[in-house]
Amino acid sequence: MAKRIAVVKPEKCNPAGCGDYLCMKLCPVNRSGSECILKSSRSKIIIEEMLCVGCKICSNRCPFDAITIINLPADFDAEPLHQYGKNGFRLFNLPVPKLGGVVGIIGVNGIGKSTVLKLLGNVFSPNLGRLDSEADTKEVLSFFKGTEAQLYFERLYSEKLSVSYKPQQIDSIPVHYSGTVRELLLKSSEKALVEAFSEKFDLSKILDRSIKDISGGELQRVAIAASLMKQADMYVMDEPTSYLDIKQRLKVARNISSGLTEKNTMLIVEHDLIILDYLTDFIHIMYGNPGAYGVVSQSKSSREGINSFLSGILREENVRFRDYEIKFQKHTPAKEKLSASAVAEWDSLVLNLGNFSLKTGKGFLPKGSVIGVLGENGIGKTTFVKMLAGLEKPSSGKISTTVKVSYKPQYIPSDSGQPVSMVLADALINHKAQLITPFELDKLLDRKVNELSGGELQRVAIARCLSQDADLFLLDEPSAYLDVEQRIKLSKIIKSFMEEKGKTALIVDHDLLFVDYISELLFVIRGEPAISGELIGPMGMEDGMNLFLNDLFVTFRRDGESGRPRANKLDSQQDKKQKKANKLYYA
Ligand code: SF4
Ligand code: SF4
Repeated sequence: MAKRIAVVKPEKCNPAGCGDYLCMKLCPVNRSGSECILKSSRSKIIIEEMLCVGCKICSNRCPFDAITIINLPADFDAEPLHQYGKNGFRLFNLPVPKLGGVVGIIGVNGIGKSTVLKLLGNVFSPNLGRLDSEADTKEVLSFFKGTEAQLYFERLYSEKLSVSYKPQQIDSIPVHYSGTVRELLLKSSEKALVEAFSEKFDLSKILDRSIKDISGGELQRVAIAASLMKQADMYVMDEPTSYLDIKQRLKVARNISSGLTEKNTMLIVEHDLIILDYLTDFIHIMYGNPGAYGVVSQSKSSREGINSFLSGILREENVRFRDYEIKFQKHTPAKEKLSASAVAEWDSLVLNLGNFSLKTGKGFLPKGSVIGVLGENGIGKTTFVKMLAGLEKPSSGKISTTVKVSYKPQYIPSDSGQPVSMVLADALINHKAQLITPFELDKLLDRKVNELSGGELQRVAIARCLSQDADLFLLDEPSAYLDVEQRIKLSKIIKSFMEEKGKTALIVDHDLLFVDYISELLFVIRGEPAISGELIGPMGMEDGMNLFLNDLFVTFRRDGESGRPRANKLDSQQDKKQKKANKLYYA
């Protein structure tokens, strides 16, 4: 096979706008008389990979970012399992579903996870890199000969395995369906099971509400319950924790795998590594180049897989897919952090908003710390952040601050027609290396804000917030819509940014691994969602997490190798030991 991959995005290729096939004029192979870049029948371009020398002149000079050239390592000799047309994305290898087990997939967006799920679910068959036809079943079985995947495909082809699928895009459910929650669930199973699953997934109170009127978190739980209620050989959960708070994530995680038997299997794609670790028995890491090619790693135990992912290295495959590793360091002693001067302080605050009320005791934000805020949905986290940003006025009490504040809201306005380059003007001048490059924002600069996806908009909003001339940065749910790799990058960026500049950040988020990595102190909000919340803190990580976890009946240990927190299985020996010692979490 060719030692390089040339990917062309026809929707971006605009020969009239680039000066009449600029890439063809510049390609050294074309200039020497051969036809490496050709015009396609649709007046776009095609690249002959066997002739390409991988100089990247075309990809560097195309003004529309329509070409990606990847020079593969010399020892890369895998054949694609599936390819989307000439110069299209290609996938190498597949994860192996295991009977009675839960297999997780970690990978960035655009690396081929959806293709994997469709191939394993028999939505379409692999074409083995052939561009004109699907491969027949014999060829697929021979491709996987002698591997576990061969057994899986034999079963898939002979017994017609049934698959129950929880899609990633749950937002489209209310677009296609207009009944009540109960009616939707009854489509999946009989009445008794609907009641049992409603109990498990906290849906009993909303069974008679219209699907169109429920929140994102409720919709996610309905989608998971509907999928698990079906009788199937393989269950596929595509991002089951989006829109859920930490309490709901852990509860859903406990319930997701409880119905699995030795005869069926489950495949999970998830960006929250604590949940993935808790739920899965095995993990495959997907690496490569988003939009161009994806390779599925060998199967690893969950622990080994997540540690490899954090380290950025796959030892068995001899691949480094990130140039830095994430190591969880011991937190600076809370006493030291809490003795710093305050950038904001308050006496008892009360804020009444309709039927909801948020209360605080005397509190402050110490200078030079990253402080996490934990609490359920609807408990007042955003309200607290808005008070600090000066957007909500307390009904009683006052916040004193003399420092400048920069705020990234939870919901980012996306209707602006402004170009991204304008929104990021400060970041471009002062923080190109710290923010623009690591967040890969260069490619978005010419786009308009209202054209961005959720994840792109999030990255732009975080970079804008951090680039402001401020002393206190308030970031409400910065990990939402980001994939697992972007979350890793974000945690590293926020941590080093605050350390280098001695600034203060307050972070509200539901990804516990992310909060654990960047936070030095915590606020916890307890109470009853939508009724009342009470802010407690700031306090050290151990005290804060112990307080928070007390309400969740879960304990965390530290992984010996990476130092990351790992949730203990409920009622495991370690779980019981930690509960007895009242040490629910180790800082
Ligand atoms: Fe022009 Fe880029 Fe298309 Fe080549 S790929 S023809 S440079 S728009
Ligand atoms: Fe031509 Fe170089 Fe582009 Fe290959 S990478 S198509 S050789 S310009």
